[in-house]
Amino acid sequence: MSEFDIIRDYFSSVGAKRQDVLLAVGDDGAVLKPDAESLQISVMDTLIESIHFPRTSPGRSVGHRALAVNLSDVAAMGAMPCWASLSLSMPRPDADWLADFAAGFAELAHSANVQLIGGDTVSGPLCVTVHVMGTVAPGQQVLRSGALTGDAIYVTGTLGDSAAGLRAMTRGESHSWLIDQFLYPQPPIKLGLGLGQWASACIDISDGFGRDLEHVLEQSGVGACVWLEKLPLSAALSRTFDDDEARYLALSGGDDYQLCIVVRAAEVDRFEQHCRDLATPVTRVGEIEATPGLRFELEGKRVSLNVSGHDHFDNDD
Ligand code: ADP
Ligand code: MG
Repeated sequence: MSEFDIIRDYFSSVGAKRQDVLLAVGDDGAVLKPDAESLQISVMDTLIESIHFPRTSPGRSVGHRALAVNLSDVAAMGAMPCWASLSLSMPRPDADWLADFAAGFAELAHSANVQLIGGDTVSGPLCVTVHVMGTVAPGQQVLRSGALTGDAIYVTGTLGDSAAGLRAMTRGESHSWLIDQFLYPQPPIKLGLGLGQWASACIDISDGFGRDLEHVLEQSGVGACVWLEKLPLSAALSRTFDDDEARYLALSGGDDYQLCIVVRAAEVDRFEQHCRDLATPVTRVGEIEATPGLRFELEGKRVSLNVSGHDHFDNDD
C-alpha cells in the first residue's frame, strides 16, 4: 500500500461534511471558508529523524525545514502563510540543540511574517510536526486540478540540489552549497502570494518534480511534455554530476520545496514580468497537452524514462 492508497482508502472522507470546507484531503492544503470575505488554507507536515533528515542535521536546520516544508505547501495554494503550530517530540531536552532549533524556526518565521501560536512538547523519538494556516482571497486559491491544454509549465529556482546535498551528507561530507540547499530550503513564499492571477494549477516539489507534476496531470485530467534540456540545474549540480545524473536528480530527487507552476497561456508574459519584479528565478520547462500522461523530450526528440525509478535516460528512437 502506498502513502497515497492509505490516504485515499482511510482518510479521504472522514467526519461530517461541513459547508465551510471547500476542499479537504487531496491537495497541497485544505481550503476553508469561515466567512464570505476570506479563505483559509491549512497544511501540515512531519519530519522524523533518520527518515526525513539525517542524525547529523544541525538543530537550526531541523527547525528551518520543519517550517519551510509547510510554507511551500501554502505557497503552492497561492496563499499567504500567517500562523503556525509546532509539535515537538524529542528523547531528552538539550539546551544547545533547542536554542539552535528555535533559532532556525524563528528566522524563517520572521522572514515569512508567520507567528508561532501554539503546539505541543513531548518526550519520545525526535519528530517535528508543524501545522500552518494561511489566507487567500476567495477565488484566488490555486489547486492541483486546474491545468488546461496549452498552459505553460514553470519551475522556480533550480532542481536536484537538495537531493544531491543529502547524498553528500550521507557520505559523511558536512559543508557544501549543495548540502545547504538540503538543510535550508527556501520556498518562494512571495511568488505564492497572488499566484492565482496567473496560475491554473500549482504543486510544491517535495517528492521530485516528475512525480509531483504527475499529481497535477492526474488531478487536472491532462498530460504534459517536459523539455529535459530546460530543467534548471545549478552550477554546483552540473559540476558534480554528469548530465544524465544531474537531470535524474532534478526530476526525481525531491526535497526541493520549489514550486511547479502551471501558468495560463494568456498570462505567460505578465507572469514572467512579475517574477523578474520579485527577482524570483523561474524556468519554463514544458507544456500541458490534452493526451494524458507525462512525456519527455530532449532537444526535440522524444525520450522515455521512469521518473521515480532508475537513473538512466534511455532513448526511444
Ligand atoms: P504534501 O506532499 O503536499 O505534504 P501529502 O502527500 O502529504 O501532501 O498529502 C496529500 C493530501 O492528503 C493532503 O491533502 C493531506 O492533507 C492529506 N493527508 C495526508 N495524510 C493524511 C491523514 N493521515 N489524514 C487526513 N489527511 C491526510
Ligand atoms: Mg505539497
